[in-house]
Amino acid sequence: METKTFQAESKRLLELMVNAIYSQKEVFLRELISNASDAIDKMYYQALTDDAVTFDPEDYFIKIETDETNRTLTIRDTGIGMTKEELETNLGTIAESGSLAFKNENEIEDGHDIIGQFGVGFYSAFMVAQKVVVETQSYHADEAYRWESEGVEGYTIEPISNRETGTTITIYLKENHEDEAFDEFLEEDRLRSIIKKYSDFIRYPIKLDVTVQHAAEDDEGETVEAVEEKTINNMIPIWKKNKSELTDEDYTNFYHEKRYGFDTPVKHMHINVDGTIRYNAILYIPGQVPFDFYTNEYERGLELYSNGVLIMEKCSDLLPEYFGFVKGMVDSEDLSLNISREILQQDRQLQTIAKNIKTKIKNELKQMLKNEREAYEAMFKQFGTQLKYGVYTDFGQNQADLKDLIMFYSSRDESLITLQEYVERMPEDQPYIYYAAGDSIDKVKKTPQAERVLDHGYELLYLTEQVDEFAIKMLGSFEDKEFRSVAGGDLGLSETEEDSSAEQETKENETLFTAMKEALNGSVTDVRASKRLKSHPVCLTAEGDISIEMEKTLQAMPE
Ligand code: ADP
Ligand code: MG
Repeated sequence: METKTFQAESKRLLELMVNAIYSQKEVFLRELISNASDAIDKMYYQALTDDAVTFDPEDYFIKIETDETNRTLTIRDTGIGMTKEELETNLGTIAESGSLAFKNENEIEDGHDIIGQFGVGFYSAFMVAQKVVVETQSYHADEAYRWESEGVEGYTIEPISNRETGTTITIYLKENHEDEAFDEFLEEDRLRSIIKKYSDFIRYPIKLDVTVQHAAEDDEGETVEAVEEKTINNMIPIWKKNKSELTDEDYTNFYHEKRYGFDTPVKHMHINVDGTIRYNAILYIPGQVPFDFYTNEYERGLELYSNGVLIMEKCSDLLPEYFGFVKGMVDSEDLSLNISREILQQDRQLQTIAKNIKTKIKNELKQMLKNEREAYEAMFKQFGTQLKYGVYTDFGQNQADLKDLIMFYSSRDESLITLQEYVERMPEDQPYIYYAAGDSIDKVKKTPQAERVLDHGYELLYLTEQVDEFAIKMLGSFEDKEFRSVAGGDLGLSETEEDSSAEQETKENETLFTAMKEALNGSVTDVRASKRLKSHPVCLTAEGDISIEMEKTLQAMPE
């Protein structure tokens, strides 16, 4: 038996794992299953490319077993196994990743997917294990070996008698403590649910012995218990299936199964991209606003899978904030399996996928607006605020796209319209796009300033949400037509004559107006005669570009 020490980086990582206060220790199982799946991938590849290997799909599986007496959990795979050297380099150091080396060595073409380029994977077993034993028979070697470690102190390697090609990893669970029990990883139900949660879509069967109830043969109505080996995972993920095989109901079921929401989604998008970056995604536009959507508690994001292995439940980097209402998942075989959020954030491939997804959502919404007006309006009533927020916060191409997706209430029928629709029906002599901001349509349309524009026969946009005017201001214009607030200065309403007579009147009543201004004690900058009024005796007008509504919002904002 040889005793060895871990390479310095490994030791550090191991230390981290042993003392982990990470709450989701269950992910160790995901990591080990994922390694097993990788190893089977390699064997599979071997079998597919080497005539000397007989190929039987039944041979490829992962088996999970428990031993309550010894408090052990084993994960056995029929993968490629490891040679003695591989045991040392793969499990003793982290500088080299077996999966990566394999990839370069064989120059695997697209389609043969070997994942896990670099990660902390295997060591995560030490979050729950006081001792880990790896017994392995490599496809490439005559001898089998046992690797054993109780953590940072080091590991031992010794030869063992030959066995079938593959690897068995035995985890000796840590002692239970007052505040933490590890026995849960011996429970059938718990294991089943962890497998379902993280590894449902691993392509090879993950087998577990489960207790089942059988109807007894002679006694009617009686049942007997039996232990049977069952495959726990689903194996073929819906996102890898052909769209034409799937019904709306399948998508809705998946939505519910994954608990993206309890409502019925209005739209699903099934995306398969197979270019320089490969990924599959299923995205949903929910039918109803999640109850916490407009609170700080709401966490946007998509589920992120690396080749069928769930690596993050809410990956916020995949969605811009203004599409935060979109639910769903992304699976990419090009992503490395890594538990660190920080590293993922800088991942170039992830950024490419995010960009791609953003465009897909935009296009889908555009199509929906064009072809399913009613559904779009319903969606917009729920999530429109976010889209307008996008116009306000995002610049360049995003803003250019989003401006076609936003809607406002119009003075015509008080219905929702797009800016495009407004501009299209503008009479030729109308110089600006007019809008009036306020708390509600009813209040806005009764303002004296609004009346005047309406009397001209011009359409008016009613801006009733706080974000509306900010978005409009950010846009500045639409198709070369500037936006003008009816509460602002020049409205371009052919009023030269009226203006001069108003000026005249202001002069004539100077004493009165000065007295009024003084009486208002600095609340107003000026009092003037106006020709804008019809049924109202007086109105408030904002000086400059900021409307009274906007000023109110700005003043209400925390400094
Ligand atoms: P990664 O999977 O990202 O390479 P891990 O720490 O999970 O990192 O695993 C390290 C390496 O150990 C793997 O790349 C692989 O070469 C080897 N390995 C781990 N588990 C197995 C297994 N069950 N069968 C064969 N090789 C394995
Ligand atoms: Mg791994």
